[in-house]
Amino acid sequence: MAEHTPTPEALTQIDLQPPQRDWRDPAVAFRKGTFCYPANPKHLEYLGLANPRKWQPADADWHLPENWRQIILEGLKERLKKYRSFRLFMDICVRCGACADKCHFYLGSGDPKNMPVLRAELIRSVYRRYFTPAGRLLGPLAGGRELTEQVLKEWFYYFYQCTECRRCSVFCPYGIDTAEVTMIGRELLNLVGCNINWVLEPVANCYRTGNHLGIQPHGFKDSIDFAVDELAEMTGVRVEVPINKKGAEILFVTPSADYFATPHYYTLLGYFTLFHEIGLDFTMSAFASEGGNFGLFTSHEMIKRLNAKIYMEAKRLGVKWILGGECGHMWRVVHQYMDTMNGPADFLEVPTSPVTGTRFAHTRSTKMLHICEFTADLMRHGKLRLDPSRNAHWRVTFHDSCNPSRAMGLLEEPRYILRQVCPSFHEMPENTIREQTFCCGSGAGLGTDENLEMRLRGGFPRANAVRHVHERHGVNLLTCVCAIDKATLPPLLEYWVPGVEVAGVHELVGNALVMRDEGPRTTDLRGTPLGGGGAASHA
Ligand code: SF4
Ligand code: SF4
Repeated sequence: MAEHTPTPEALTQIDLQPPQRDWRDPAVAFRKGTFCYPANPKHLEYLGLANPRKWQPADADWHLPENWRQIILEGLKERLKKYRSFRLFMDICVRCGACADKCHFYLGSGDPKNMPVLRAELIRSVYRRYFTPAGRLLGPLAGGRELTEQVLKEWFYYFYQCTECRRCSVFCPYGIDTAEVTMIGRELLNLVGCNINWVLEPVANCYRTGNHLGIQPHGFKDSIDFAVDELAEMTGVRVEVPINKKGAEILFVTPSADYFATPHYYTLLGYFTLFHEIGLDFTMSAFASEGGNFGLFTSHEMIKRLNAKIYMEAKRLGVKWILGGECGHMWRVVHQYMDTMNGPADFLEVPTSPVTGTRFAHTRSTKMLHICEFTADLMRHGKLRLDPSRNAHWRVTFHDSCNPSRAMGLLEEPRYILRQVCPSFHEMPENTIREQTFCCGSGAGLGTDENLEMRLRGGFPRANAVRHVHERHGVNLLTCVCAIDKATLPPLLEYWVPGVEVAGVHELVGNALVMRDEGPRTTDLRGTPLGGGGAASHA
């Protein structure tokens, strides 16, 4: 943890005093630890985005284009026309307050502008002033406010303090989705060059090399070869992982973190043991070497551009369908946007398991199947030999990652798998799981070190629920199916609940899977000795 990070005791003492002035007249203070650094201009230039320059949020002068107000208002007008849901969200909120205490950033920071209703009001008030007859006539009396530079700065601060997790929308009686409001807010900010590096660097890298870290094809191949070697050492089995193989049945796409970060990497090893065991005819791609889509945190246009490459690659390689790994926002894009933006993918076939024959008809438009659906089906048909005792050193709980749970309804499959491969599984409290799951606090591109205090605050409700099962059931492993979660939950838990580690579901599948041709297994996929040694080291 950074030196200036407050202790957990200090962080839970919320002493925020909202200013006495009218909330519509903002003066945003950019306090260290609570905001993200702006994008490096070279990434904006590479992507053809507006107003590349060096600037800092704490600077008085943001070097905005001279006609910035006109650009934003025209952008707002265009989006009100284009996105009916957005227009509706601007009009129908009755300020009932049902969403007010549902946002993890409000719970962790106490800042009223982190209440979803008020976050949306930041933009709604401008909408009222410029786009409704009452607001044009009566201004503040009709709830409208002028679009000033301070308002723009406030947008930047609070739209980059929303992880677009959609928890608030679950509780809104009108179904208002504040994440969609945040998305439009960020899109407008992008029009005048106000964006953050943690989002735009991965987007630019994706364009250049196909993945977030900018790993080139030979580096991608090296990483996969390394994983194959390690797996051979641990299991005695040398698996085959084809890359860019034309005519394979299935294209497998996974977040790049799976092959360059831990604990993601152990999930990757889990996938490979599974594919080997069932003899899957698949290929990975050095071009579609990223499942993640940071376009979701930038603009609709960027979502479309990044999602398209997966389908272009499926076409080029001539596969039948696409299998997707453990990712969060990749699945939100696939389930909620792909069909409209790049679909339907009629050149592909409806995913059908080559082992069980199950036809996954719900994916008939996107032709893309989640690995948990695929694996749960294999287990349901008794196609895998499993030894859960190999995971006996873990006492496990499951964190529903926001996008797979709320955006695609993936609730049962991961739990079904975990119950098959782990002897000890415990749910967190009901109002913190499934559709009501609490965000990790670092999604939507906010997982940067400079933003750590806000991440720890936002992640507090999630960590608090983990603490509950840790204390009550001795849980020492939090599983999830999202690459951002796997990156951001470890520091969160180290801070709030030391003694709990993080893993992907398929890491535990890989541990428990008894491969036909394997040698004696003495360690799990982390290299931890099986049979008691692991329990001590992980407890
Ligand atoms: S719950 Fe819905 S209607 Fe009620 S204040 Fe929140 S956004 Fe508005
Ligand atoms: S989408 Fe999530 S982070 Fe954003 S306001 Fe709603 S609950 Fe908060």
